[in-house]
Amino acid sequence: MATKKGSIGVTTENIFPVIKKFLYSDHEIFLRELVSNAVDATQKIRTLSSFGEFKGELGELKVSVKVDKEAGTLTVSDHGIGMTAEDIDRYINQIAFSGAEDFLEKYKDNANAIIGHFGLGFYSAFMVANKVEILSLSYKEGAEAVRWTCDGSPEFSMEAAEKADRGTDIILHIDPENAEFLEQARIDTLLRKYCRFLPVPVVSGKEQEWKDGKMTDTDKDKVINSTEPLWTKKPADLTDKDYIAFYHDLYPGQDDPLFWIHLNVDYPFNLTGILFFPKIHNNFEVTKNRIQLYCNQVYVTDSVEGVVPEFMMLLQGVIDSPDIPLNVSRSYLQSDTAVKKISGYITKKVSSRLEDLFKADRNDFEAKWDDISIFIKYGMLTDDKFRDAAMKFCLLKDTEGKYFTIDEYKALIEPNQTDKDGNLVFLYATNATDQYTYIQAANERGYSVLLMDGQLDSHFVGMLEQKIEKSRFVRVDSDVIDNLILKSERKSADLSQADRDMLTTLFSSQIPKADKMQFFVTFEALGENSAPIVITQNEYMRRMKEMAALQPGMNFYGEMPDSYNLTVNVDQPVVKRISQEASAELSAKLSPLNDSIASSNIRIEEINKAVKDNKPDAEQEKQIQELMAAVDKDRHTETEMISGYAAGQPLVRQLIDLALLGNGLLKGADLSAFISRSVKLL
Ligand code: ADP
Repeated sequence: MATKKGSIGVTTENIFPVIKKFLYSDHEIFLRELVSNAVDATQKIRTLSSFGEFKGELGELKVSVKVDKEAGTLTVSDHGIGMTAEDIDRYINQIAFSGAEDFLEKYKDNANAIIGHFGLGFYSAFMVANKVEILSLSYKEGAEAVRWTCDGSPEFSMEAAEKADRGTDIILHIDPENAEFLEQARIDTLLRKYCRFLPVPVVSGKEQEWKDGKMTDTDKDKVINSTEPLWTKKPADLTDKDYIAFYHDLYPGQDDPLFWIHLNVDYPFNLTGILFFPKIHNNFEVTKNRIQLYCNQVYVTDSVEGVVPEFMMLLQGVIDSPDIPLNVSRSYLQSDTAVKKISGYITKKVSSRLEDLFKADRNDFEAKWDDISIFIKYGMLTDDKFRDAAMKFCLLKDTEGKYFTIDEYKALIEPNQTDKDGNLVFLYATNATDQYTYIQAANERGYSVLLMDGQLDSHFVGMLEQKIEKSRFVRVDSDVIDNLILKSERKSADLSQADRDMLTTLFSSQIPKADKMQFFVTFEALGENSAPIVITQNEYMRRMKEMAALQPGMNFYGEMPDSYNLTVNVDQPVVKRISQEASAELSAKLSPLNDSIASSNIRIEEINKAVKDNKPDAEQEKQIQELMAAVDKDRHTETEMISGYAAGQPLVRQLIDLALLGNGLLKGADLSAFISRSVKLL
């Protein structure tokens, strides 16, 4: 044939500078594109042969990638269908499209999107080469070999050539700034990343051996890929060992997976894959070892956001689907209906597999629960459909290590843990050791206590509370035992207002000052055999703080102090004695102050009444100010008097410290003061 010269049929003036300029982020994918094309050509010849349309010898069907550092070339060769000059004209020269510049501008950071949109796989070679040659011999009878050359301008040349074997060589003359692609090690790394599971053997360099004190090439081709990855096989033909070995191949250095799910669907879309439930030790691993996405065994990405349901980002494994429009941008991917269906399908499949496991072997499921609960809880929190399905097999664990389904647990606690308003009260502990005394107290009442010590449990508790009708979740130390599950109205401690005020100041003044902790003194009649002082932490405030800790941007709650209730048991003999002695000692001294406060308050009220709806005049204003100052002064004197008295009563401080100690809240100097005071009291 005569040498043909021509211009590549691009409507845009010159596509190559555009490719070079815009596709900077993902240069390396050119190799994936070229090897994929070679694999496609190989599979086509196989298909033609199986249909009898190609009658010649297939020969050894492999793709090889050769680096020639001296010549500065990288060559991808296949033994596939090859191309005639007409084929090259049609498939390579005629890249016709419109609106190219707009599109390129929009997606300039996303090489995948551009390449996919235009079918520019082959042209991605120009991201790294200043000249590309195609040397090809078609399988068609009587075909002539052809050489196509293009130096990165829209001009190409095409001429007859010599080629002994059927197939195509793509020869890249790597430009100097991309010299990294002339390193065998770099090429091998890329091939392992993108081509590891391609269905045709990909050969790159030679196997090496240790000889004469150094690594030397042998005659044996080094095959990069395994052509039949596990997910393409039938589950029935596979053993647990196969799955575990495959898992370790994908994620070296990990523990065995807990279990796996083999996905296989061909309607309404095509999808295969294997999802593994890993044993998670820390959050860092989760982001590191992610699900890998393949398209017909070609690695595409491990950024699978939007393709798999959010909670499955904790899983590992592979998903392979020719139906996912992989070469488009992420936002497009997320709005794609096929992708949405896939995500929904995976959710369904995972929940039904979990349910099967639960039903088939409950003991085994319970044994694995602590490890898998993080996935299930995360799923229930982020995916409504999954949550509804998981309500059947989600387990609750009590502080004794027994497991229940939600329904079982409801039935268990209903008789004894329903409060006066008909709410089912779920008691839980977040730390079985720290909250031991409270758990004990609850168990003595015949209450069951759940253990909620997982990372997601504060969210999970909130979710269950919403989903289980008429339910309330309260941490076992959030109030005194009598108040946790109120079965009837309780009368409050029988104290006069004056005594209550006096005792509040008395106890408050002796609470050690600590950063970010705040105590409210309350009084309850808890019976003479109960502890003198109980420290509890308000359920609502604690939860807000815990949630804040898990969510960025909720610092407001995180910065607030931890607030505790310090409940004084007025029935307890020591407390009784303290309060009687304090009354005896202080009442007489306090009563003139109380009278003075009362009379000031009456005066203020009188003035206010006289003023009614009008603004007080200057004189009235002044009087009110003076009266209020007098009240403040009296109050201050009272406080001084009571705390001065309290400071001389080591028992008060002792009781408070004991309660703090029981909650692990007594530390540092306060702790050593407590110890020396205890010795003295003994
Ligand atoms: P795509 O692969 O997305 O169609 P490409 O630009 O990568 O886009 O390739 C365009 C066409 O060129 C292919 O569809 C194929 O027909 C042909 N082609 C590319 N590489 C080869 C090859 N190694 N052997 C045979 N044909 C090829």
